[in-house]
Amino acid sequence: MTALVIRGGTVVTADGSRVADVAVEAGRISAIEPDLSGPATSAAAVIEATGMLILPGAVDVHTHTRVATEAEPDRFFRDSVAAAHGGTTTFLSFNNPGTGSSPAGERSLVAGLAEWHAATDGDSAIDYGLSLAISGRADDPLAELPATIDAGVATSKAFMVFDFRLADRTLFEAMRRMGDRGGMLQVHCEDPVLLDAGIARALARGEVAPRHHPATRPPYVEAVATARAIAFARMSGSPLHVVHLSSAAALAEVRRGKADGVRVTAEACPAYLVLTEAVYEEPDPARCAGFVIAPPLRAAADRDALWEGLADGSLDLVATDHVPDRLGVEKAAAADGLSFDRISNGAPGIETLLAVMYTRGVVTGRISIERMVDLIATTPARRFGIRGKGALQVGLDADVVVFDPAAERALRAGDLHHTSDYTPYEGMRVRGAVRDVLVRGEDVIRGGRFVGRRGFGRFVERRPVSG
Ligand SMILES: [Zn+2]
Repeated sequence: MTALVIRGGTVVTADGSRVADVAVEAGRISAIEPDLSGPATSAAAVIEATGMLILPGAVDVHTHTRVATEAEPDRFFRDSVAAAHGGTTTFLSFNNPGTGSSPAGERSLVAGLAEWHAATDGDSAIDYGLSLAISGRADDPLAELPATIDAGVATSKAFMVFDFRLADRTLFEAMRRMGDRGGMLQVHCEDPVLLDAGIARALARGEVAPRHHPATRPPYVEAVATARAIAFARMSGSPLHVVHLSSAAALAEVRRGKADGVRVTAEACPAYLVLTEAVYEEPDPARCAGFVIAPPLRAAADRDALWEGLADGSLDLVATDHVPDRLGVEKAAAADGLSFDRISNGAPGIETLLAVMYTRGVVTGRISIERMVDLIATTPARRFGIRGKGALQVGLDADVVVFDPAAERALRAGDLHHTSDYTPYEGMRVRGAVRDVLVRGEDVIRGGRFVGRRGFGRFVERRPVSG
């Protein structure tokens, strides 16, 4: 029996858009037809959606949500609610240091996975999964990788930089072993030798304020590391996903790798598509710290190159790299003169993905609405082994967003639901608004209000990745 019919909206898939009705049965899409008025008469619920866009829920494959602690028991839950408000129905988190992982969890992938499960079980309002961070402080991560993939964690991430960086040889071996098992390594590509030298030089000159952060990690530092990771994928034959690609120079490396037949995909993040290095001119170090992310924000030419990459397929997907740091807590020491290299890296974005992509991508004509859906839902689900999600298609989970394209508003931190205390997009005018969100056919957002429940979200087991 039909539980729900969504009537009269424009159904958008990666392949095309059409006005149609969508029926839901047992949590899955059971029909997409021009006229389901028959089933609607006996359905338990009908959502009128004339004039609305019907989109698959976004699948955000890059977040650094914090797990609950005794002091902040709602942190993970609240960020999952924020994601839903923004039109995201599934998100993947990392357990890198700072997100709540203990030293024991950092030393062992299997222990880290168990710890993260225990910390997040029954906490999320929407579906969610994990990508493990493979720390350089882990005892024997290579031996543990097969077990983590078998446990539904098809992707893990290695960092070439930071104090938990992975040595090159281990990174190569991790990529190879994951690929052999149907998994995929995600890599943060910046060159550690160049980066350390850049930071040391700035500090020696007394250039310690947050505004000096970008000059220490210019695009070639990213590009040379991206090229090396792609060479690793080429030699190993394994898939590679380049996270948060930020520059035209690194994009050129991805294009070259794809042309050479390497199994590489790359991700853009909204911050690099909207903001530029001009934000570092902010004179107040406490506010400037809000833009301390790695890689740093780049020149306008880089930003424009990324949009071209999204349009022509050189970039494969968009994810947020959400870090719920607060100017008043994690980044607060910037106000007291803490040097830029010691300021917590990252910026929030779990709630603003769809708003930014629709406004700056679709409304401006840089990408089509179909391409947007592909970039934020369909391709991330496929590439990360998330079966049954990422598209509006009969048989898949009814993860659906009813989006009002006519709405207009300005983004304000005070209106957002995440656990950060700011947004990098403060004051930005955006078009469109998320009206309703369904996860597996259940109401999570209705009329812009959260009506879901804590613990409804299911852990998504993933494998294998494709491509
Ligand atoms: Zn990240």
